[in-house]
Formats: sequence, structure tokens, C-alpha cells
Amino acid sequence: MSPAARQTLLVHACCAPCAAVPLHRLRERWDLQVLFYGPNIQPTAEHDRRLGELERLCGRLGVPLRVEPGPAEEWEAAVAAHRQAPEHLLSPRCRECFALRLGRTARVARALGAAAFTTSLSVGRLKSAPVLFEVGRAAGLAAGVEFLAEDFKKADGQGLSLALSRLHGLTRQGYCGCAPSLAEVTARRARRAAAQGGGAG
Ligand code: SF4
Repeated sequence: MSPAARQTLLVHACCAPCAAVPLHRLRERWDLQVLFYGPNIQPTAEHDRRLGELERLCGRLGVPLRVEPGPAEEWEAAVAAHRQAPEHLLSPRCRECFALRLGRTARVARALGAAAFTTSLSVGRLKSAPVLFEVGRAAGLAAGVEFLAEDFKKADGQGLSLALSRLHGLTRQGYCGCAPSLAEVTARRARRAAAQGGGAG
């Protein structure tokens, strides 16, 4: 989608290091607003830390930030059927998590009168762009607002995220956000450490 005149685009931001990529790439084409809605992020201290970093980034860039309340119960209810499915490109847990967050973003975009919405989630290497596009388009259709389908991991989006994190002094995180994803990363690290320890003997 390429607007003739600058219109408002609502960018769903999962965290500041990922949000920096769409904000950097889209700010010339759109009037941007950012939405943070993080019922998936646990523990609460991590939720608040990520929100703080996003507030700082938006402040530096002069982009308005809107924060939607997101109690963890909303995420738990949305993913209940697939809570134990691990994070990967086609994870049903992640699909439900996307649907929750993009559904809310679409409704807010519609209420704000934005021309479209998009998400920083596609920066993540474990986030399937086709799945995000399918979920985003369905959310947009339900709310009556267009979904801007962009795969921000393309053209070295991860490298750009790293560079912008350095530029803005952003803290990066070691797991996606939910409690199961933290447990999965912790277990993976423990296995790796055990394998390295075993190899050294
Ligand atoms: S790993 Fe990330 S995308 Fe998947 S369910 Fe957890 S928070 Fe959501």
C-alpha cells in the first residue's frame, strides 16, 4: 500500500528493538503512531521494562505512543488450547497470540481513524510473515481497516534492529515474551551448557 498523501499508520510494537525497524523504514511515507499492548509479556517487571524502552524510543523519534491495558489473563485465555506448543514459525500458540494482539490493534486503528495498521512482529526470525499476514488481514477485515503486510525481517531487518538498538541505546531481550517462551529459552541454554560441559570432559 502506498498512500498518495501522508496518512496515519498505527504500528503495533512488541518491543523497542523490533519497533525501531518499521519506525525507521516507514516514517518518510506515513504519519506514524505506535501501539503497545503486551498481555503476553511476563513477568510484570519485564513488561514494564519493555514498555519503558518503547516510551524512550518513541520520545526520541517524536512518535505518539498509545498504551492499551493488557492483563495476562487475556493472553492466557487466548492461547489456552495451545499453551504447551513451543515457539516456532508455525506454532499454534504464537498464531493465537498474534490474533489477540493484532485484533486489538486493528480495532484501535479503526477507532483512531487510521488508514492502516501493521506490526513490528515480522522483524523476529521466529515470526512467520505469511502467518502474520494471514492473521493481520483477518483482523483488519473484522475491524474494517487495512493491514499493511510488510516483512520487516527482509533486507537484513535483524541487522538494522541491532544497529538501531545501538544508536538509541536500547536494551534487547533474550526471549519472545510469554512465560513459556522464557522457559523454553532457559531450557535450551541449560542443554547447550550441559553439552559444552560434557564435551570439555
Ligand atoms: S513465543 Fe512470543 S509470539 Fe509466541 S505465544 Fe509466546 S509471546 Fe506470543
